[in-house]
Amino acid sequence: MQKSNKILVLNCGSSSIKYALFTADERELCHDIVENIDSNKTHTKAIQNILLSLQQQKYVSSYSEITAVGHRVVHGKDMTQNHIITKKIQKKIKEAGVLAPLHNPHNIEGIIAIQKLLPKIPNIAVFDTAFHTTIPEYAVLYGIPLSLSKKYYIKRYGFHGISYQYICEELKKKLGKIPGKLIICHLGNGSSICAIKNGKSIDTSMGFTPMEGLMMGTRCGDVDVGAVFHIAAMRKECRDIDHILNFESGLKGIAGTNDMRMIWKKTQQKNKTAQLALDMYCYRLQKYISAYSAVLGGIDALVFTAGIGENAWYVREKVCQSLSCLGITLDRKKNRENKEKIHTGKTKVYVIPTNEEKMIVREVGRLL
Ligand code: AMP
Repeated sequence: MQKSNKILVLNCGSSSIKYALFTADERELCHDIVENIDSNKTHTKAIQNILLSLQQQKYVSSYSEITAVGHRVVHGKDMTQNHIITKKIQKKIKEAGVLAPLHNPHNIEGIIAIQKLLPKIPNIAVFDTAFHTTIPEYAVLYGIPLSLSKKYYIKRYGFHGISYQYICEELKKKLGKIPGKLIICHLGNGSSICAIKNGKSIDTSMGFTPMEGLMMGTRCGDVDVGAVFHIAAMRKECRDIDHILNFESGLKGIAGTNDMRMIWKKTQQKNKTAQLALDMYCYRLQKYISAYSAVLGGIDALVFTAGIGENAWYVREKVCQSLSCLGITLDRKKNRENKEKIHTGKTKVYVIPTNEEKMIVREVGRLL
């Protein structure tokens, strides 16, 4: 691919489209978000406006400069690799929509829009799930009847794979190799953690849906399914439970806000529910790091990334303070300054900003 070519990255959600434009050598020219997409302003219309604005702002002089579009696709079902989108791949993404009804249908809308607006260029699907297809079967399956797992494709798929792959590649660039026993904590509004052995995911906290695992901004994370049935029985309906567990739980459910900055500020004012939310968030994380360290047979490096992971020094401090038994000790000053290397102990601890859009561009480059 020539250096003058430009690659558009699209992340199409239900009501918003995040986009970024890159040069072929991974230089970001712009990134932005279009919100409030509804039946009046379809994905096609919104993408048409995005293309127009790229031209008006002179990021491209003509659309022909855009030579490929990389689409973030949340669910790839069993697809182990990213793909140039052919009819067959598009059908598979559509089929995987049963497992990600809130995401894949909108990803498909973005793909169809580009096929209409820029019909000559290749579309590439980069999956959030592909990175985790190396997880062994015993860690992938749930303890429910095997026949049900098979019939309804119920298993741990895991998410945030694009971010994990990016961090692995950054570590390789910085250290010359990916640490053999690696734990990455992707702590954003959606939070998950991944155990990586010799560069391959061997377990991750998100499961069949992105609801499992760590406590998150508005998602509950691990919860006893018996409690969910009980809530449904007591409320005599279960239609809104999915909404409660996805959008009203986690930090928001405990402290009334999912903004970690606000929670920290409130803890400084001795607000009890804010302190409880922070304690719960950190405890869950501490538990998973310890478990994954056992799964990996030790830990060479621990990485924090995404909004909370990159900025909330108090989360890192609190979590790591309780993990000295794993050889994790922090340089307090460096940690508070959000420096890249923040360890003093034998286990390396890094703060590395993630860049999922850049990873998508890299994958586009590789596939073309
Ligand atoms: P993300 O989903 O990666 O954009 O991360 C969103 C989360 O990061 C929210 O909980 C924010 O409150 C949190 N966050 C963003 N910036 C900061 C910051 N400077 N300090 C602490 N938390 C932050």
